[in-house]
Parts: sequence; structure tokens; C-alpha cells
Amino acid sequence: MIDHVYDAAVVGAGPIGLELAVALKRAGLDYVQFDAHQIGHTMTWWAPQTRFFSSNERIAIAGVPLLTADQGKATREQYLTYLRMVVDTFDLQINTYEPVTGLRCEGDLFQLTTRPRSGERTWKARKVILCTGGTDRPRLINVPGEDLPHVSHYLGDPHQYFRQKVMIIGGKNSAVEAALRCHHAGAHVSISYRHPELAAGEIKYWLVPEIRGLTHSGRIPAYANSTVIKITPTHVHLTVISSEGDIEQKAVEADFVLLMTGYVQDNALLKLAGLELEGPTQMPLYDPRTMQTTIDGLYLAGTTVGGTQDHYKVFIENCHDHVEKIMQHAFHKSAEVNRIVVDQPES
Ligand SMILES: Cc1cc2nc3c(=O)[nH]c(=O)nc-3n(C[C@H](O)[C@H](O)[C@H](O)COP(=O)(O)OP(=O)(O)OC[C@H]3O[C@@H](n4cnc5c(N)ncnc54)[C@H](O)[C@@H]3O)c2cc1C
Repeated sequence: MIDHVYDAAVVGAGPIGLELAVALKRAGLDYVQFDAHQIGHTMTWWAPQTRFFSSNERIAIAGVPLLTADQGKATREQYLTYLRMVVDTFDLQINTYEPVTGLRCEGDLFQLTTRPRSGERTWKARKVILCTGGTDRPRLINVPGEDLPHVSHYLGDPHQYFRQKVMIIGGKNSAVEAALRCHHAGAHVSISYRHPELAAGEIKYWLVPEIRGLTHSGRIPAYANSTVIKITPTHVHLTVISSEGDIEQKAVEADFVLLMTGYVQDNALLKLAGLELEGPTQMPLYDPRTMQTTIDGLYLAGTTVGGTQDHYKVFIENCHDHVEKIMQHAFHKSAEVNRIVVDQPES
């Protein structure tokens, strides 16, 4: 394997990595693709039946229509089924469960090290495209008790919270969605967030009236202006600033605690490759006209470009053009897909 030089190595098989793979295959290029997990891994940890906020035509890839039986927005299950179908249709070969752990430039070639279960492997490619996403790990809040077994950064199946006291931490979409789903699954939900109001602009618009109704009526007790101090096996300890500016300590009973505080990018590979990362969100530097980084032949595609996004601006729907730009710049080919051009994400 070490002697073979591929035209391209694609790291990551999320929606954009797969869309790129279809373009490479259509162009007859000799490429190899890896994913640390299964294809579409990022969607696999969403709670069952979570719906995309994007319309189906905006998250469809490679010109293959994404259809749902009720014409509604796809759930993660429908989208994962769709991704498998795309892989089968184009017979894409993906080395899954094979993380890329090393990447270095040697003259005009790249050497990649991967770690499948069977050991270590080495690969060579003329171009490398990192499609590794930006939501690899939960954003920790670093309080005592965060690692207790009843505390999680992932919602999981709401069924497990039936008739349990669930404290949800966070004021954006994932917190609100978790609060509503647990409430509807029969949990006794409360929610704590740092600001005076929930971040309505960052919540799926159809969830906002319901969460407002439930918190205003007290059916979901809401602790605005609150900060978690510590978590014990039975309580969440909060500091709450009242509307009069008084500081109070509160201990809220909780059987389960869901820390819906967002996700961060694992940028170890980007750093290892020698990429420059910028600002507090550690966005990798690249040329948006070509998607090439500061290293010749090393490209970025998909949400990798956003670093750790505090306010999500880079989504599947505004990354499709990365594929065409890379095909043009790196390979002087076209992605050959007829698609609707989307400038702004729909929210
Ligand atoms: C709850 C939730 C809802 C969302 N809803 C939407 C929505 O409605 N619309 C939308 O556009 N976006 C949505 N997103 C964001 C969405 O997940 C991303 O936009 C999408 O997954 C990005 O696709 P991607 O191909 O850029 O990266 P990803 O899907 O994140 O794929 C990256 C892949 O790279 C792999 N990888 C990472 N590191 C390595 C490595 N070192 N070696 C090999 N493989 C590696 C990962 O395993 C992963 O499979 C949502 C996110 C969440 C959490």
C-alpha cells in the first residue's frame, strides 16, 4: 500500500465527504476514503427521530433526491438510510472504523497514517481533503460532578427519562429540543440557562412558542440567569441572579442531568498537518475560492472550515460548493451535479 500513490485521500465520510467521493468517482480519479467511525457518524449520536432543520433538497448530496414519505424534513434515521443508499448507488469504497492519526507532507506527496482495528497502515496521496466536521466532542462546562454516571452531554432516547426528574443545562436549540422531548416522554423537566432569555434565534422556529408556553406556565421550571456550580448524585447546584439583581444559591433535585452545551471540533489532525488555526473558534485558514489551505495540495471541505462553531453558520447546505471548488482547483474537473445554488442557510 505504501508504494501506491492515490490521486486523493478523503478524510471523513459525513455528507460532504461522501458528496466529494461521488465527484471523485464520477471523474475517474483514484482516491481512498477513511472514516474514524461509520459513514454519517455525526448523525448517529443524535437522539432517535431528531429532524433536520434544513429542507430535504438542501441536504441532498451529489444530485440524488432526498425524499420522505410525508414530504417533511428528514429525520436522522431517514438521512442515514439515504446516505447508505448513496454509497450503494455509487458503490463508494470507504475504509470505515479507520481513523487517520497522522498526516505529513513529503515533497509533493502526503503520507497518511491510519489506525484500523488490525494495527497501523500508511498511505500516500497527491492531494488530501479533510472533511472531518466540527462537532467531535461535547463542550465541557468543567464543574465538579460533570463526570457522574447520571450526567450526559447527549440526549439519547427520551424514553429513559419517563417519570424521572431531568435537569437540562443550556439555552439553545439542543437544550430546548431535549427539554420538550423529555417533557413529552413523561419526564419532570427543568431547564437552566445563563442568559435572561432562551436564544430564540438559535432555536428551531417551530419549537419556540411551545417552550415559551411551558416555561411561562411553570410546567417546565426555568432558571434564567443561572450558572451550574456543581452536580451531585441527587442535585444540581445553581447560582441564580434574580431580575432584581440578587444572587441566590439553589439546589434543584435531578435524577438525570443533560448538559446540552454544544460540541467542539477535535483539531488534533489539523494541527498535526501544520495548519494555522485562527481566533477563539480555531478556524483553520484556507482560501474560500479554492478551499486550499496554507499547505499546497491540502484542502478542507464541509463544516471542518468552521472550527468550533459558537453560533452555527456553516451547515451541510452551504458547503456543497466546496466540492465543485476542490474538483476545479485540485483536479481541473467538474463535480457534474445539477443543483440549486444556496447562498444562505435556511433557519
Ligand atoms: C442535533 C443536530 C442537528 C443538526 N441539524 C442540521 C441541519 O438541519 N442541517 C445541517 O446542515 N446541519 C445540521 N447539523 C450539523 C450537521 O451535523 C453537520 O452540518 C453535518 O454533519 C456536517 O457534515 P460534514 O460532512 O461537514 O461533517 P460530519 O458529518 O461531521 O462528518 C465528519 C466525519 O469525519 C469523520 N472524522 C473525523 N475525524 C476523523 C479522522 N481523524 N479520521 C477519519 N475520519 C474522521 C467523523 O467520524 C465524521 O463521520 C446538526 C447538528 C446537530 C448536532
